[in-house]
Amino acid sequence: MMKWKSFALAVFVAIGVAACLAQPAAQPGAKRTLVRAGHLLDVKSGKLLDSQTIVVVGETIQSIAPTAQVQAQPGDTVIDLGGMTVLPGLIDVHTHLTMNTDFDPYHELTSTDAKEAINGVVNAKTTLMAGFTSVRNVGAGGYTDVDLRDAVNSGQVPGPHMLVSGPAMGITGGHCDENLLPIQYHVIGDGVADGIAEVQHKVRQNIKYGADLIKICATGGVLSKGDDPQASQYTLEEMQAIVADAHRLGRKVAAHAHGAQGILWATEAGVDSIEHGSYIDDASIAAMKQRGTYLVPTLYLEDWMLEKGNLPAFYHQKMVDVSAVAKGNIKRAMQAGVKIALGTDAAVYPHGLNAHELDVYVNQLGMAPLAALQAATVNAADLMGWSAKTGSLEAGKWADIIAVDTNPLDDVRVLQNVKFVMKAGVVYKGQGAVQ
Ligand SMILES: [Zn+2]
Repeated sequence: MMKWKSFALAVFVAIGVAACLAQPAAQPGAKRTLVRAGHLLDVKSGKLLDSQTIVVVGETIQSIAPTAQVQAQPGDTVIDLGGMTVLPGLIDVHTHLTMNTDFDPYHELTSTDAKEAINGVVNAKTTLMAGFTSVRNVGAGGYTDVDLRDAVNSGQVPGPHMLVSGPAMGITGGHCDENLLPIQYHVIGDGVADGIAEVQHKVRQNIKYGADLIKICATGGVLSKGDDPQASQYTLEEMQAIVADAHRLGRKVAAHAHGAQGILWATEAGVDSIEHGSYIDDASIAAMKQRGTYLVPTLYLEDWMLEKGNLPAFYHQKMVDVSAVAKGNIKRAMQAGVKIALGTDAAVYPHGLNAHELDVYVNQLGMAPLAALQAATVNAADLMGWSAKTGSLEAGKWADIIAVDTNPLDDVRVLQNVKFVMKAGVVYKGQGAVQ
């Protein structure tokens, strides 16, 4: 019996190996799409290859080879991106797709989960059309981002691949609470939890209702009333309890943190990424480097706010104070070699402008264009735990493909005008788009 099983297994493996070695013969019924790229940018090496063809079958890339070697067969769909530069879809690891740019306090108070869900449908599409084929959504009212993710995955609405956190966890009265109303209204933010037992419960509750990751507020924030961005909020012990439970249950932790104390504690507690990092100092830079913690700066929002922001007084002064120091501090962290993943905080400014963040990294902070592109692709995929699925154009990964007019390594601002978007083998923008 055992012998027969081993023999059968050996034959099965042999057939499998033979099939892999043979020319990529399409499976019966598997329709191929040939994406003819004038130039193809390898975001891992920075190499630009001319005349390449990406063969897409179903959701994934089957192979990539020089165009001269890939003949179209009957039944193939051919997409001609002859004059363009093709690269992997971009990734934003800090979005709020269910929220919109409006800081009128009454608007904030009259938001509902239903409104957030509707916002999410619109913003998911806008973000995808901007060339962002994956996002991490870090904070939403209720579990509206969970339902949005599921609607995108089922094909009900267009949008990027998503990992979602549900409500961001925070202390009573902190950045992630709702502090606009006096006590008689009894308003408490969805993610508020204090003390070890409560934070454990909240982590488990968020996971129960569909969170892919846990978002916490380690310090105060800018767009919240009565708190200080520089002051730590969760204690080291609370964050250790959060990380222990999240990691045990297979979820990463993203920590909103502006102040240096909170950045250091969150890092020591073992979070996977520090979001914003405005007051990052030498000690927190050293700790993040030592642990391999990602930094997710969100800097373009400061430029947008300066130009177009219309904030209530109790947010405005904090925005001015943080903006005065954040870029300088983040630049030091970048130069020190802290790992960077691209995030934007889209919703603080209108969705779809996500690629402006790369412009800030390169043209204001002096980051190399390839490093900035890697922050938005391979690094972001690594932080999301999706390195095997996306972040570069390679056989076996999702066919998440975008195209622009010129090489973004010459000028990253071309990424603000993406001409072609394919996500998981479906074209949403440019030649061959659905609808
Ligand atoms: Zn945010």
